[in-house]
Amino acid sequence: MSTLFTEPRGRFAVRLDPVALDALHVFAAAVHPLETGGVLVGYYDGDKLAVVTDVLGPPADTIHGPRALVLGVAGLAGYFAAIWPARFHLGDWHTHPGESPPVPSDTDHATMRDHALGNAALSLILGGTPGAYALSATVYEHGKPVALRAA
Ligand SMILES: [Zn+2]
Repeated sequence: MSTLFTEPRGRFAVRLDPVALDALHVFAAAVHPLETGGVLVGYYDGDKLAVVTDVLGPPADTIHGPRALVLGVAGLAGYFAAIWPARFHLGDWHTHPGESPPVPSDTDHATMRDHALGNAALSLILGGTPGAYALSATVYEHGKPVALRAA
């Protein structure tokens, strides 16, 4: 599975550390076929590349359903305060169990528009089933979704 995703015109890209990609698979498989999610942690390398170094699993107050997810916030404020400014919150991730390739839903778009940090936020969606996952990456640029391509 690719660990590099690029904006179609090459304006920016997202790279996942292999450890972060492995963590996504482990979190997803742990609750399959329920949805799960969490937050993406990392830094910017220059002004074009976001590097995801860590994937946090679902906070304790997360609610999982077969076709629904309410991502919790427990513990996140303290975590981000401790790692700032070396690394920070780049965006969120969640799963679409059984759906391959995963496509952001209308709800996903609305949630990311509401939660966008500053002027850009990253959303990763892992679809499929354990052992056969596919990943999509979308950047919300001023609230508008930009689908990235696996490079
Ligand atoms: Zn979704």
